[in-house]
Amino acid sequence: MIRVALAGNPNCGKTTLFNALTGATAHVGNWPGVTVDKREGVCKKGSEPFVVVDLPGIYSLSPYTPEEVIARNFILDNKPDCVIDIVDSTNLERNLYLTTQLMEMDVPIVVALNMADELEKNGDKIDVKLLEERLDMPVVSVSAVTGKGIKELIDRTIAAAKRKRQGVSVLGSTMLAPAIEEAAVRMRDDGVSSPLFHAIKLTEGDSLESENHKKTAAFVNNYTRGMKDATFGNDWEAFFANARYDYITANYSPALTRKSGEGKRLKMSEKIDRVLTNKWAGIPLFVVILFVIFHLTFSENLLFLAPALGAGGDWTMFEGTPFEGLFGSSAGISSPGVILQKFIEGITGAISGGIGEGMAAAGAADWAQGFVVDGVLGGLFAVIGFLPQILVLFLFFSLLEDSGYMARVAFILDRLLRKLGLSGRALMPMIMGFGCSVPAMINTRTLADEKERTATVRVIPFFSCGAKLPILGGCAGALVTASGFGNADVITMLMYLLGMCVALVSVILMRSTTMRGELSPFIMELPNYRRPGFRSTMLHLWDKAKHFIKKAFTIILASTIIIWFFSHFTWDWGFVSDEDMGSSILASLGKLVQPLFTPVGFGAQLGAVGWVFAVAAITGLIAKENVIATFGTLAAAVVAGFDLEAAGEDGIAAIDALMGVTGISGAGLIAFIAFNMLTIPCFAAVATARGELTKKSFRWTLLFWLGSSYLVSSMIYTIGEFIWPVAVWAAAWAIAVAVIVIINKRLKAKEEQKKIKTA
Ligand code: GDP
Ligand code: MG
Repeated sequence: MIRVALAGNPNCGKTTLFNALTGATAHVGNWPGVTVDKREGVCKKGSEPFVVVDLPGIYSLSPYTPEEVIARNFILDNKPDCVIDIVDSTNLERNLYLTTQLMEMDVPIVVALNMADELEKNGDKIDVKLLEERLDMPVVSVSAVTGKGIKELIDRTIAAAKRKRQGVSVLGSTMLAPAIEEAAVRMRDDGVSSPLFHAIKLTEGDSLESENHKKTAAFVNNYTRGMKDATFGNDWEAFFANARYDYITANYSPALTRKSGEGKRLKMSEKIDRVLTNKWAGIPLFVVILFVIFHLTFSENLLFLAPALGAGGDWTMFEGTPFEGLFGSSAGISSPGVILQKFIEGITGAISGGIGEGMAAAGAADWAQGFVVDGVLGGLFAVIGFLPQILVLFLFFSLLEDSGYMARVAFILDRLLRKLGLSGRALMPMIMGFGCSVPAMINTRTLADEKERTATVRVIPFFSCGAKLPILGGCAGALVTASGFGNADVITMLMYLLGMCVALVSVILMRSTTMRGELSPFIMELPNYRRPGFRSTMLHLWDKAKHFIKKAFTIILASTIIIWFFSHFTWDWGFVSDEDMGSSILASLGKLVQPLFTPVGFGAQLGAVGWVFAVAAITGLIAKENVIATFGTLAAAVVAGFDLEAAGEDGIAAIDALMGVTGISGAGLIAFIAFNMLTIPCFAAVATARGELTKKSFRWTLLFWLGSSYLVSSMIYTIGEFIWPVAVWAAAWAIAVAVIVIINKRLKAKEEQKKIKTA
């Protein structure tokens, strides 16, 4: 079958086009670096099917970043039958820079001028015929989003793939031509394929080439040494780049006619950037944006209107129905996320209520009713109740990403973090970790430095993923219900920020001790602001929902069934009722491990049923959703008189009930959240980390996760529980340190003076 590779700058729409060609639903992001692993698919929309490979986004074919090396080696070694060079037509000149390098290879190329819709909207025009003549390659104007031109692109790609093409260069008319020509002849004699490309790279002084073709390299060096010294000083590579750009401006740019008013539009986006990427305002603005997002997802008191709406502002509606309090309660008005959550809980509550009544009417045994309604449905529904909030949160995250804002966040933070041994490049996989650690860890492959990569893989789980969200949201909600004050949205956001802070502190510590090393370069231009596509956003959300539901009905369902059985049978396989749960297998195992969690606030101090927290933390190692599922399954059993069904199969209500019987403190519960967020992640993430790291550093990574979760959560617990003694101790230490510093300074000053005197 014909094989076609997609090459282009980051953000030129490669993934979107890949999806349009193959009908796949790969994740699209306005986010350089999203594509690292090669993705393959088959396009069946033309006269014959062909394989499509989505290469990483690159600006050039130099050997500086892993993406460039991957893309270049793929084209040279795997020899696709055709390369579709995707060019963002709203950024023509800059994108054609890569084209001038691709055209040097002996491979058929079709240029796809993408974003035709945006070009048109801007009022600009490209003369496709003229460009095609000048490039001497097929050029097709397309829009990956609207589908315009895709058919033509497919036809011309198939046609091009059947012909041969010899590399040509735009450098032919420069003074470099003789050196390049001579090197190309030698390469050809050596039987190298794409001799022109290799010859040019060699002349550029490309390190990969010089290594692979030592003999010709020596020749070229002799040839160019004089030129380098005499003409261009050290900026040999810049000379090549300039020559390419000059050629583009002179020969290709005339194909583009800009509408006047271009300046104005640019200024608008520059103006926005001046604020959003401002040195001082950038980060606070990011925090504010995060807050708004969390507020709209988790708040039960939208815009904090409750007090303003006055006394008796009880917004409870649908009283006595499963949807009671859908749009609000005495706490205030519900945010969109909460409305959806309550809606789902209304439905799940009605389902389990109906099933319970049905079973009772059919005369099912008590244990069977308990198993189905409390055990299985309780666990499952407690998790599913969080699906809406996960989706709402991801809707916002994907809007931030697609609009181009996240790239700005990486840019702001790069400026700050570079000094601390971390690059903005490492930040991209970290932010991906908010979705799921598994692809995020795989994405660290873009980091050239092995140590920066290891450090990044280790902290990715601290960027709380979607599966951990029920833990954060559930515990935060229960904390607010139990204490009667605070805001679930604020608590949840602070937990997210806590994870990020721990990640940053860990990276700084690692990078200044065991994981010292080079910094990966961060070459990223800010992508244009773009209105996120409706279809791609919905596909993204649908993917997320599908994955979550699949997980709920497989791993999590299986886990809840196992948990229910182990919590209702004794070691000699006798059935135990809820009242005697203490003698069940799960309880005895739980009690065994319970003391392990005493230092972090949810161990021995929780008393007889405190083992539930220990068990929940451990089931979380399989999948983090299991933590809430475990609470849901066990709440009805261990809390006398608690009716999960009446509570709408609500995870928050289950945790609230468990807080009541165990007497876990607020600090203990927050420590519990922190522990689950920072400790060894789920099975899938651990397996991925093992694949991405060396054996030795993987073992250290497991220890690191255990260590940091213990350290941070015991700190939270201790400070929260014993605020006054801790404050006194901290003050004492601070004073002691300050005194030592001051004395040291004085001593040093005295010594200096002595030195001056003696001199
Ligand atoms: P990649 O980094 O090259 O894989 O680029 P993506 O496929 O992730 O696309 C980057 C952004 O450009 C996304 O927000 C897309 O929705 C958007 N995009 C891609 N193709 C088009 C297009 O033809 N027209 C418009 N208006 N936007 C597009
Ligand atoms: Mg992509």
